[in-house]
Amino acid sequence: MSSKVYFLPWNKKGELYSFLKVAGIFNHVKARNFLAVKIHFGEDGNEGYIKPEYVLPVIKIAKEKTAYPFLTDASTIYVGERSDAYHHLLVAHKHGFSIENCGCPVVIADGIKGNAEKKVEVNMKYFKDVYIANEIYNADGFIFMSHFKGHGIIGIGGALKNIGMGCGSKAGKYAMHHSSKPLVEYELCVGCGNCIKKCYQNALSLVNKKIVMDEEKCAGCGQCISNCALQVFKLDWSEGAATVQEKIVEYAAGVLKNKSSSYINFLTHISKYCDCFRLTKNDPLMNDIGIVAGNDPVAVDQASYDIVNKAFGKDFFKELYPKIDSTVQFDYAEKVGLGTRDYVLIEC
Ligand code: SF4
Ligand code: SF4
Repeated sequence: MSSKVYFLPWNKKGELYSFLKVAGIFNHVKARNFLAVKIHFGEDGNEGYIKPEYVLPVIKIAKEKTAYPFLTDASTIYVGERSDAYHHLLVAHKHGFSIENCGCPVVIADGIKGNAEKKVEVNMKYFKDVYIANEIYNADGFIFMSHFKGHGIIGIGGALKNIGMGCGSKAGKYAMHHSSKPLVEYELCVGCGNCIKKCYQNALSLVNKKIVMDEEKCAGCGQCISNCALQVFKLDWSEGAATVQEKIVEYAAGVLKNKSSSYINFLTHISKYCDCFRLTKNDPLMNDIGIVAGNDPVAVDQASYDIVNKAFGKDFFKELYPKIDSTVQFDYAEKVGLGTRDYVLIEC
């Protein structure tokens, strides 16, 4: 059976409040529920994140339902401005995610040091248990607000990525990334040392002015890839992307287990990399397209993918990442029962 997915073109973005009501994505929200509105606040220097003005209608509707909405995200595993709650909250505030602008508090879901988590049993292909950020686990229900764009490891970052990777604790994020250790072309290294301080695992060191990676310590976070201008580090495309996507889906299954949820994807400021990175001079790569919403994360991501490709005229994400099949996540999510790739698009 197909899922209903709703689309609001970007030139009608002023109608977001009524669009969200028509899309029926608050039907699951109940009075006095602690409703986690999961979003990415954007790394310091990033501009692609969903802006606070678009959060406001979401919070307004949640409050009309007398729920208790809060904005949330969890700590990153790379060293940046969002790797603990203290700095994460400062960045969120800097980017405008204040109570005044959004109408609700911001809660970093895995605690001040990013180590507050709950174990959830899933019994799937890669994981028996997954580790979810504490206040995500404690939420009664979810609205996932996801910026739909490219992603350096899995090709696409949309709702499934926001649920699975975004809600995992640090330990969970390590577990999902672990199969994507970079390949290292040691001879290209000039020994500048820039990458070493970005490696939270202390897996990098210089020996005779050349970088050395300790494979036992490496957790596959990919930070060194984006922090070496000489491209000494490269992804092992042969298996990492598909495996990481399937692991993300298993984490998504753990997050959504026994919880109600709905999904809003923003097809705006579309970039090659996710919001953990500063935008490059080429971003955004196309004009803003619109907003996709629904109650099925697979259908919402599939529709977003199709709409972007239609706007581009061919497979946009394949052009960005020729060696990644980023639809593995849709297939696997459908297979494990998170939703369907089959959807009916209703344009508002
Ligand atoms: S950033 Fe690149 S060039 Fe500099 S030490 Fe690291 S691997 Fe070598
Ligand atoms: S070596 Fe690179 S991929 Fe591995 S943990 Fe360090 S920064 Fe992350």
